[in-house]
Amino acid sequence: MFRIGMGFDVHRLVEGRELWLGGIKIPHELGLLGHSDADVAIHALCDAMLGAANLGDIGHHFPDKDPKYKGIDSKILLAEVAKLIDAEGYELGNADLTICCEQPKINPHIAAMKAVLAQCLNCQEQQVSIKATTTERLGYTGRGEGIATYAVALLKRKA
Ligand code: MG
Repeated sequence: MFRIGMGFDVHRLVEGRELWLGGIKIPHELGLLGHSDADVAIHALCDAMLGAANLGDIGHHFPDKDPKYKGIDSKILLAEVAKLIDAEGYELGNADLTICCEQPKINPHIAAMKAVLAQCLNCQEQQVSIKATTTERLGYTGRGEGIATYAVALLKRKA
């Protein structure tokens, strides 16, 4: 049995923050603002996986009012989501992410992101697709005000 889920997240780009995206730190003059490390790609992926299992959303499991999650590495949250999925009797089939961003260029970092996320999910790199697009300088991502990510995940019932 298969179940599909989708996730979407946005974080604002600001000065004075590190840029964590897809589980890696990218050198850039701006970083994403959030209670955690604000890794918008991981957050969208978490929501896609949670949605597929009908387990609510990332804010439900890891409230941003909880000091426990302040500054937390989102890879820890993703590994936690993988555990929740596993406990429900599902495993990841595949996931596909689209990161919307004007700057920095994402493509040079995609291989590293895939390796890190696959390790975090204990799956093959081939199961995690990461793509990037600009929004042709339109909207908040186009103006460089933030980064958005769309994600879909397919879960399958464990044998
Ligand atoms: Mg978020």
